[in-house]
Amino acid sequence: MEVNCEGCAGCCIDWRAISSAPSDHERRGPREPLDDDYNLVPLTRGDARDFLNAGLADVLTPRLWRDESGVEIDGVSLSAIDDKPAFFLGLRKSPKPVALFDADSTWLPTCAFLDPTTLQCRIHDEETYPAECADYPGHNLELGQETECERVEATFGGERLVDDEPPDDLSGFLFGPQAIGEKVFVFPDPERLEGVVARAAVDELTAEDRALFAAAAVSSAPGTTTVNRDRFESALAAARETDSWVGRAIDDWEDRAADVGSAAPDPTLAERVEDDRGAPETPGWNG
Ligand code: SF4
Ligand code: SF4
Repeated sequence: MEVNCEGCAGCCIDWRAISSAPSDHERRGPREPLDDDYNLVPLTRGDARDFLNAGLADVLTPRLWRDESGVEIDGVSLSAIDDKPAFFLGLRKSPKPVALFDADSTWLPTCAFLDPTTLQCRIHDEETYPAECADYPGHNLELGQETECERVEATFGGERLVDDEPPDDLSGFLFGPQAIGEKVFVFPDPERLEGVVARAAVDELTAEDRALFAAAAVSSAPGTTTVNRDRFESALAAARETDSWVGRAIDDWEDRAADVGSAAPDPTLAERVEDDRGAPETPGWNG
């Protein structure tokens, strides 16, 4: 596998607003995500623990799915395992000014960790770098699914996926029952999600709501739907206390942003919004 990522970041940004033929690849099949995110990064249990331990739990957010054969909460029927709502844990996006593929700077939903000036990941060399990001697009190649690199090629030209041979070692590749408790999590107390699901359906999750899912993911047990109650409560307390540079930067970007797809200021505004709050620097492509 070889990819040409310089000047791309297509898998880290929701670039549908600047695409003439936006992809709907995450919304095919019987289960439709409750959120409207694009290119959600599904984290492993280990990733979730690393974010919690690094004091970055406020960047975590769940993905639930509509499913007519699931459990109903707040009038929404949700995918469930053993009658407990199932979810992925991903990374929040925030509106950022990005100049993609020679376009002018535009407000686009962007991974909280993407440096919009260099289009590089701020946690690439950190303990928290997600397994899914390290492997991307290896899982797609292994499953014969279209990659984001190819979608970028199809829309903007150029060569992004240089070699489509899947790598031998895909650390975050979990499929079927082995994914339960490792990448597909369950929420232990469905009644505790009353009100939360209604907010999730309109993209209005609160910090407290997101902390509940972070706690459930880190206290899950691999291969089972079991959640350790003591671990859940201690993880919830830790997640509630989190107040990181990235959480504060998301709030700031949301205050500054105009509509998705509209003209944005120069991406170097990130120096004030992110770098000055303690965001790790990125080297740039000449570094
Ligand atoms: S879409 Fe492909 S080429 Fe573009 S940044 Fe992601 S992995 Fe790299
Ligand atoms: S963590 Fe880094 S590589 Fe992964 S989606 Fe976010 S910016 Fe991209």
